[in-house]
Amino acid sequence: MSNSEPITEKPLDFIRQIVTEDLKTGKHPTPVTRFPPEPNGFLHIGHAKSICLNFGIASEFNGRCYLRFDDTNPSKEETAYVQAIKEDVKWLGFDWGDNLFYSSDYFDQLYDFALDLIRRKKAFVCDLSADEMREYRGTLTEPGKESPHRNRTVEENLELFQGMKNGDFSEGSHVLRAKIDMASPNLNMRDPIIYRIMNLHHHRTGDKWCIYPMYDYTHCLSDAIEEITHSLCTLEFEDHRPLYDWVLDTLETPVHPQQIEFARLNLTYTVMSKRKLMQLVQDGHVSDWDDPRMLTVSGLRRRGYTPASIRDFCKEIGIGKKESWIDMGVLENCVRNDLNITAPRVMGVLDPLKVVITNYPEGTVEDIEAKNHPQNPEMGSRTLPFSREIYIERTDFMENAPKKFFRLDIGREVRLRYAYFITCVSVVKDEDSGEVIELHCTYDPETYGGNAPDGRKVKGTIHWLSAEQAERCEIRMYDRLFKVENPDADKDVNFKEHLNPDSLTSLNNCLVEPSLADAKPGTCVQFERQGYFCIDSRDSKPGALVFNRTVGLRDSWAKRKK
Ligand code: ATP
Ligand code: MG
Repeated sequence: MSNSEPITEKPLDFIRQIVTEDLKTGKHPTPVTRFPPEPNGFLHIGHAKSICLNFGIASEFNGRCYLRFDDTNPSKEETAYVQAIKEDVKWLGFDWGDNLFYSSDYFDQLYDFALDLIRRKKAFVCDLSADEMREYRGTLTEPGKESPHRNRTVEENLELFQGMKNGDFSEGSHVLRAKIDMASPNLNMRDPIIYRIMNLHHHRTGDKWCIYPMYDYTHCLSDAIEEITHSLCTLEFEDHRPLYDWVLDTLETPVHPQQIEFARLNLTYTVMSKRKLMQLVQDGHVSDWDDPRMLTVSGLRRRGYTPASIRDFCKEIGIGKKESWIDMGVLENCVRNDLNITAPRVMGVLDPLKVVITNYPEGTVEDIEAKNHPQNPEMGSRTLPFSREIYIERTDFMENAPKKFFRLDIGREVRLRYAYFITCVSVVKDEDSGEVIELHCTYDPETYGGNAPDGRKVKGTIHWLSAEQAERCEIRMYDRLFKVENPDADKDVNFKEHLNPDSLTSLNNCLVEPSLADAKPGTCVQFERQGYFCIDSRDSKPGALVFNRTVGLRDSWAKRKK
């Protein structure tokens, strides 16, 4: 039915192999995974990879996947992000059911675990300043130095830690540290901080706490509390795994999830970190987190990407252990393949040129039957008004055109899609500029439907719209947000230096067929011969439609690169 290539069934990735094995040996009756975003920004396409992996495993192996907000840093987190993240996960097609959790749900338990660590002589309150602590930490080649407070008694530590909790100390004056090994070759194991004082309001716990647990300490314990079986994260956490295991082993938690790392998604022509995406928003380089040029889930949605196309993409790129780069073209292909099957075909003219059909009766409007999808009759058809004055695409006319130009020039004949053959007879030019502003053509009434009874052939078929009924609209054309494949490659050049100044072009004089006048925001269509377009969900209004170009019909980028 479609031109899209079927997504070939791949062998199980290494994580699914581990899960399969664990179910076979009875290590776990069912897998329990989690997607643990920090609510400090919107989700991006990299998060989609993690969502598809975690929720995908749960659904394929009859398990559960939890949505857990990792909300331990109130200085950067907001409720608005929580809402946006939930919406994005749902939109991608995944359901956490009742399993919506927050790390902050566990603050009491985490505090108790910290007391337990102190009693086990495995944690201590340290008064070193941040600078001193850095000095004591050592380097990759030199061991660190033990803190002078490392050997405080259990009683002293309990009292000081409770003091921290009660707000007796100022920010930065005290921290709670795990007591592990200052000589460890792994810097994460050199008595890492597990609690710090922050006099900040938390979006869920309010002003109850002025101490907040660190990520490494919180994450493993949240996993254990939720009885996660496989804790899947990206490769940069490989060096944190010894700490993950140390916390759970030291506290002898009844459940010890297995952390497994996989390679993160790196995509060309974009940046992926929330911190950088935030800068693009805050500095006004894009309109917002959901700007259609952003590789956020909300930006892709607004651009016209479908949930299925993003899931297909994640399946296509797979899960591995080695860092790699995925070409943006792969993502674009996925949406093109999906929309090729699902998007109705319509007529849209980006740069209109008026055509007067001089032998067509004045005042007559004819209904032309047009298929909604040439390969899928089930999608039905609609009627298009046809009349004496129409618009065609300016690029479909060329004066003194070369032989191979199969569109219009004086004396040449083309087929108007679903309607008649027309022949260009003369042109009208602007007196000052010399620009062609109107074509005069004749039509052959015998060619309705696109065939001549005398068997004569035309090579070109072009799209068109009846002048009076066409709906005026704005179309936003997008190019890559960055000019280079990896905007982060050179550490001495700020990634924003690589922004593409021409990433957005607004065309304000476009026309679409009247059937779209009442179409809902988010509607995706194919403009025949032009590409896939989606009605903008923010700026489009009845009577003032705005379209975003999702993607072209072919991978023109691949050609441009050569
Ligand atoms: P960012 O740097 O973009 O903020 P993050 O890892 O800090 O990313 P989190 O909200 O902590 O963002 O991430 C939630 C989950 O998504 C984590 O398990 C993380 O490993 C995963 N994740 C983040 N970025 C990617 C990526 N590019 N590819 C695959 N998974 C990712
Ligand atoms: Mg993070």
